[in-house]
Amino acid sequence: MYAGAVNSMRVYEENVRDLVNRPGEMRERSRSFAVPETLGEALARVPAGENLDLDVRLESVHEGILVSATASTTMHAECGRCLEPFTAPFQVEFQELFAYTPTEADEYGVHGDHVNLEPPLRDAAVLALPFQPVCRPDCPGLDPETGELRDAEAAAESVAVDPRWAALAGLLAEDEDVDRATDPEESE
Ligand SMILES: [Zn+2]
Repeated sequence: MYAGAVNSMRVYEENVRDLVNRPGEMRERSRSFAVPETLGEALARVPAGENLDLDVRLESVHEGILVSATASTTMHAECGRCLEPFTAPFQVEFQELFAYTPTEADEYGVHGDHVNLEPPLRDAAVLALPFQPVCRPDCPGLDPETGELRDAEAAAESVAVDPRWAALAGLLAEDEDVDRATDPEESE
């Protein structure tokens, strides 16, 4: 990693100097920055350079600093059905304790006067990014025969039946059954 990248990763650092060993103290901070390294590796990701709004709540507790954070940004994805690229708002939350003396290997620690939010934010984002993103819930996808993008109207006709018509069709079918059952000629 080159020096510039190391410096840019400092956007994830929170200074906690005025919270260390002061249980009960709390700070809330918000800031925006450009994501220094892409989050996520699959069909959906937050690419480097994308703007990210971070709301952080830092609470001093006996064991360390409890961090609650919400990140709001934009994911760039490839639709799992039609393969078209699209963007969509993406929000992820996490809460982690940064301990003064981490006891487990996977526990986060307070480093000097700061905590580094990058590892928990990255973990939370990777988990929350959709594994099979779709550009819109009713994306018709590709025609299974031609592999071409399906015509949206044609796909809608074949897939979606207006629920009101479906209900009406059900009623008509019922009526026919009733007629047949009560028709004296047929029952005799
Ligand atoms: Zn699509």
